[in-house]
Amino acid sequence: MIVLKNSKELALMKQAGKITAEALWAGVRACKPGTTTWEINRVVHETITSRGAIPSFLGLYGFPAAACISVNEELIHGIPDKKHLIKEGDIVSIDVGACIGGYHGDSAYTVGVGEIAPETKQLLEVTQECLNRGIAAALKGNRLGDIGSAVQTYAESYGYGVVREYVDPEVPNYGHPGRGVRLMPGMTIAIEPMINLKGEGVYTLDNDWTVVTESGSPSAHFEHTIAITDNGPVILTKL
Ligand code: MG
Repeated sequence: MIVLKNSKELALMKQAGKITAEALWAGVRACKPGTTTWEINRVVHETITSRGAIPSFLGLYGFPAAACISVNEELIHGIPDKKHLIKEGDIVSIDVGACIGGYHGDSAYTVGVGEIAPETKQLLEVTQECLNRGIAAALKGNRLGDIGSAVQTYAESYGYGVVREYVDPEVPNYGHPGRGVRLMPGMTIAIEPMINLKGEGVYTLDNDWTVVTESGSPSAHFEHTIAITDNGPVILTKL
């Protein structure tokens, strides 16, 4: 069930979303060759707490950091590591959640570090566009299947693998138009396409957290928290 929020609650969601975006972009800017994934996490953590918010993911089910940082074939739930150095050509997915006043923002972005392979660059562009198309379908009166279908159709037109697992269970990245829960003003949802260059298969590493592609190919992840309103979708996790 998706709970409807009133205007006061939406204002708090917007505040949480803005802090989330600021922390995410601080992390994106820190993605440079020679930086560790732990350092990127440190920057994200510091940005969240400096604004009086709490990192949503830290301690959630025992997750040990403020940000999930997933590199190349890692899809989600990468654990920041003091020994993991970012290098030129990597793609780095940063997933951030910030909580203030009991409300959470959740947003993710995948950044290419320096020169990346052309096929990987296209994967990032297409996954970003999947998110844009998913958001554009988040109109009052539409259904969740319209969002999933918009994401899936565009990704598959490039032959990419749409990951079936791990998304916000209420908002799959696949589906049929006109099916699923009807979207109503006051709903807030996270739309988060996770798209693999090759194949949709994924599995979890021995650390019980990090999800990687079965094919070993790169994977991209973009996410915004949005509100359904009478005037169309509003992105809450915006700077
Ligand atoms: Mg997220």
